[in-house]
Formats: sequence, structure tokens, C-alpha cells
Amino acid sequence: MSKHQLGYIVFGLFTLIYVFGYLNLGWSLSYFIWGFVAWFLLILYGSFFIQTNYHLKALTKVKTNKKVVAITFDDGPSSYTKEVLDLLEKYNAKASFFCVGKNVAQEPELLKLIIEKGHLVGNHTYSHSKDIGFSWTKTVKAEIEKTDEAIEKYSGVKPAYFRPPFGVTNPRIARALNKTKHKVIGWNVRSLDTLIHDESKIYNRIIRQIHPGSIILLHDTSERSVKVLERLLIYLDSNNYRSVTVEGLLKETT
Ligand SMILES: [Zn+2]
Repeated sequence: MSKHQLGYIVFGLFTLIYVFGYLNLGWSLSYFIWGFVAWFLLILYGSFFIQTNYHLKALTKVKTNKKVVAITFDDGPSSYTKEVLDLLEKYNAKASFFCVGKNVAQEPELLKLIIEKGHLVGNHTYSHSKDIGFSWTKTVKAEIEKTDEAIEKYSGVKPAYFRPPFGVTNPRIARALNKTKHKVIGWNVRSLDTLIHDESKIYNRIIRQIHPGSIILLHDTSERSVKVLERLLIYLDSNNYRSVTVEGLLKETT
């Protein structure tokens, strides 16, 4: 049972108790409104923060005492992916790329290169629609399956891992993933590299949050992120951290 389903049950019980109080004890309607608002805010919070595992179980970190992290890149492949791959190679790091299906169709050679270099490729939907949170289950499922097909067509590898665009989850996305059977990967270090413009701020934000077992979210879609990545790789190197794929990180669980 998901936390969301549990929330439904708790709200249902609350409603029953309220109806009893309203009929027998003269409770004010405002009690019910406050209860409803609290429930609604809880659902919103659970939908926008993947770490809450509210609608579905997502891996957002791994419990380990080893100095190992997983760097993940969303929204590629793009014209910056090659630079990212070169840096990862230079610092002997492995990473995970959550690719957008339509970008894979445009840059199949980059997808192949990601896999050739020993990194992991995950599914990040076909069109990365801003409306994903409002899409029907069958639309979400089709977005995931079309991306799997594109990745498999060009690389021969079917992705086992999925990351929802914007980290948004809801019951429809949960139902779609129940059918496609992907494991969901979130993060516990969000760089905000697409929102913050100052590279030092992004870098400091990341290293402040790094712990053994962290999953770090970056995007292979801008020069800014490439520069932050190099600083991050230097930091990891000098602090004896290893960077592995998400799959590699799972093997480090203690
Ligand atoms: Zn994304």
C-alpha cells in the first residue's frame, strides 16, 4: 500500500468521525475544511517531492558507509553530452543518464557512446511534457514505452530504470509504472543547475549535501552544468569518493 492510499483511508476515517461529530456534537464545518486542506496539501507535497515516496517507491539514496555516490544526468542526450562523457572518463567516474526519447532519436550516436563508455541509461519519457502530472495513465505508459523502444532500437539495451520528469509523481504515473515495471530513481541532492545561474552556488549547494550513498541530480544540457561537473569530480577525487552508476550504487548497500 502506498502512503497515498493510506492517506485516503485516514481521510475517509476522518470524514466518518466528522459526520458523527457534526450530527451529534454540533461540530463546525470549518473542522472538516481544515482537515480537507491538510490532506490536499499533503498530496501536493507528496506529488512534487519524490523523496517522500508518497505515491510510489523511488530510490533516492542508498544506505552505505562507503564513500560512493551516483551522479545522474537528466534530459539528454544533447550537444553537451560529449563533454560530460569526456570529463567522466578523465576522472574515471561512471554515471547514469536519464534520456528523453525524442532526444535519443535525434542523437543516437551519443546514446551509443554513453553505453560504450560503461554508463547506465534510464528512461525519462519521450517528450518530457510539462503536463505529465495531468496526463492519463495510458499516455504516461505510452511515453515510457516509446522511450524504451527508442533506446533499445539504437543501443540494444532496454532500460530498467525510470525517472519522472520534474520528479513529479501521482497515482496515474504510479499505475503506469506498475505496468511497465521500471524501478524509479529519484535523488537526494538536487543541484538546481537549470534554475541557478551562478556555477559556484550550484557547486556549493551540491557539496554541502553530499554523503555516502547520495544520488546527485544534474543535467547534461548546458555549459554551466559541464563546468560544475568538473569541479564536482575534482572534489570527489580529492575526498576519496567514487562515482558509480545507480546500479553500482545499489551494490554498495551496507
Ligand atoms: Zn527532466
